[in-house]
Amino acid sequence: MAGQRGIEALLQAMTLEEKIGQLTMLDAGGIVTGSGRAGDLAAAIRQGRVGSLLNLVDPEQIRDMQRIALEESRLGIPLIFSLDVIHGYRTTFPIPSAEAAALDPDLWRRTARAAATEAAADGIHMTFAPMIDIARDPRWGRIAESPGEDVLVARRWAEAKVKGFQGDDLAAANTLAATAKHFAAYGAANAGRDYASVDISERLLHEVYLPPFHQAVQAGVAAIMTAFTDLAGVPMTANVAAVRDVLRRQWGFEGVIVSDYSAIQELINHGVAEDRAAAAALALRAGIDIDMMGGAYEKGLPIALEQGSARIEDVDAAVRHVLSLKEKLGLLETPNKGGATKAADPRLRDANRALARDAAQRSIVLLKNERSLLPLDPTTRRIALIGPLIDSRSDMLGPWAALGDAQRVVTILEGLRNALPSTEISAAEAVDFRGQGDREGIPAAIEAASAADIVLLCLGEDRDMSGEAASRAHIDLPGRQRELAEAILALGKPVVAIIMGGRPLIIDWLVDRADSLIVSGFLGQEAGHALADVLIGLYNPSGKLPVSWPRAVGQIPISYAHRPTGRPFDPENHFTSRYIDLPNEPLFLFGEGLSYTSFNITGLSVNAKRLGPSDTIVVDVDVTNEGAREGEEALFLFIHDPVASVSRPVLELKDFGKIRLAAGERRRLQLSVAVADLGHLDPNLRPVLEDGAIEVLVGPSADRARLRSITVEIVTEQQRSA
Ligand code: BGC
Repeated sequence: MAGQRGIEALLQAMTLEEKIGQLTMLDAGGIVTGSGRAGDLAAAIRQGRVGSLLNLVDPEQIRDMQRIALEESRLGIPLIFSLDVIHGYRTTFPIPSAEAAALDPDLWRRTARAAATEAAADGIHMTFAPMIDIARDPRWGRIAESPGEDVLVARRWAEAKVKGFQGDDLAAANTLAATAKHFAAYGAANAGRDYASVDISERLLHEVYLPPFHQAVQAGVAAIMTAFTDLAGVPMTANVAAVRDVLRRQWGFEGVIVSDYSAIQELINHGVAEDRAAAAALALRAGIDIDMMGGAYEKGLPIALEQGSARIEDVDAAVRHVLSLKEKLGLLETPNKGGATKAADPRLRDANRALARDAAQRSIVLLKNERSLLPLDPTTRRIALIGPLIDSRSDMLGPWAALGDAQRVVTILEGLRNALPSTEISAAEAVDFRGQGDREGIPAAIEAASAADIVLLCLGEDRDMSGEAASRAHIDLPGRQRELAEAILALGKPVVAIIMGGRPLIIDWLVDRADSLIVSGFLGQEAGHALADVLIGLYNPSGKLPVSWPRAVGQIPISYAHRPTGRPFDPENHFTSRYIDLPNEPLFLFGEGLSYTSFNITGLSVNAKRLGPSDTIVVDVDVTNEGAREGEEALFLFIHDPVASVSRPVLELKDFGKIRLAAGERRRLQLSVAVADLGHLDPNLRPVLEDGAIEVLVGPSADRARLRSITVEIVTEQQRSA
């Protein structure tokens, strides 16, 4: 019954209740396993009142529910089984904010591919990923799930993840339909408080928050999830201008639009609907196809239709979207695709474990290495490994770990013991993350540190301190960790600080005092191996920060891509744009990250000095590895438009690439940007490409002092013909 005709025939045959059923997604997690309402769910499926389920992961239960849909419901339409497969399924890869540091789209694609293969084998069809919300406010806990602050990084992330999850063919047995979320500007929630109102300019929306979604659409993403938040008073779940006008009409998105969890019902709490019928009508009008939980469509749409506030044509259009997804997934022909293997194939498991280690290595960022403490000298006799993260399994999994199994996690302590079998490693967790009173462990840690040649101090957050509903107003090291660190630092021993968590943390007080500093997001199941690989130099670190690390909460929101001001900072002039109590710059800038070797960039050249709208700026640089070991370097191409009809950011990332060089080796790296991508929105928010000079800058981070630059001239058609 496949094909458009099949879908139309189905639609013709459906009752209103069955249509609304296709638009209803239920959370089966608790229902089937826990609370004994499995009978209710089965009955709902039998009656055609459910089109898709989330949070069911047991292959047998999946088959069972699918069997009921196929054999016992009137029309036998298969269900879609969906889940948050965010950074792995059985194998846990680094969390997104960590993996973004690898700046490696092919890696991003491969980890998504691996996760999809594992999940699809259990019968899952759809994931609620990638999350592509730009995040410039580390108070927001969901920064952990985001690829960071930069538009281009998020666009490449979107494309890589969509391609990874979806593969070449959604109907294949090892792919998942991807869902780009949360449309849009969720990351701009006021003051970093989750679910809070978003009130940003149209310009910021269109220049920063929307492009990753446009990219996902261009990459063929199957679904989009709307955000919980309102945008200047209009909740995204009811936002006609963004969802219907931009996403559907302007971008031509024809896939499925799914609400976030019970978000249609929450239109009542937002204060834009007085009851479920009104909420359902608003969401349907905006173009939301699937109601994820909350029951607003099921209970409210029939009333709204009767009252005339909703149109049956819109219901039909939404049902078509859902049925088309089922068809694309191949479910209309093969409703039980995947879903056969209960135990994961051991070869797949080993390959994915190796990939998890590789990904974790690339996600680690070295920010300081004075006295060349790192890599550790293999003949070091005694190491003290201190802090609450050193032997923690579940924290390494981070938020949204699907079936990630803490028992399979390699802890930092295990990784280090493995890597340095003849070194004496004394371990002291010393404090926990939450306890304000817990000081008892500190003396033992001091003792261990005093007896050691070198101290590794592993501090950060636990896994529940970031992710959804985990905003923090103080983003410092929680609990007594600072007190612990101060006590250890006071000993004057060589200290390597390792900071791990879901967000940038305020560690300005630590940076000057530790000899070396490593930061990363939660690294997943191979965390301990990967970290040890970096500590002993088996892997030369190459990660770079995808997000700025502020010095203080007062600098937030923060991004390298800010605009110039009329009063640029000047130490001689009081009346300039600055804080009187803090520098303007973050503690660490976007793109910062060191290696055990050093790279030098010379010979910046460009293909042309005058370029037209259909040209591409191609920049070549010579990169030399000036150190004594092989390494990999990420380089960025930024632009700056010094004079435009609107003030443009001081730097905008337009390309990045990585180059691996043997010790002493020199090679050319090419980066490029199409002139068409240099445009912006004019004062009336219309896209323009303007004539004039463009500064093109290449270098290792957003630190202007380290960028080489060249200026080119953009000549548009109008000027040429004039
Ligand atoms: C989150 C989404 C997630 C959904 C389903 C919501 O609370 O905001 O990101 O996909 O739950 O688990």
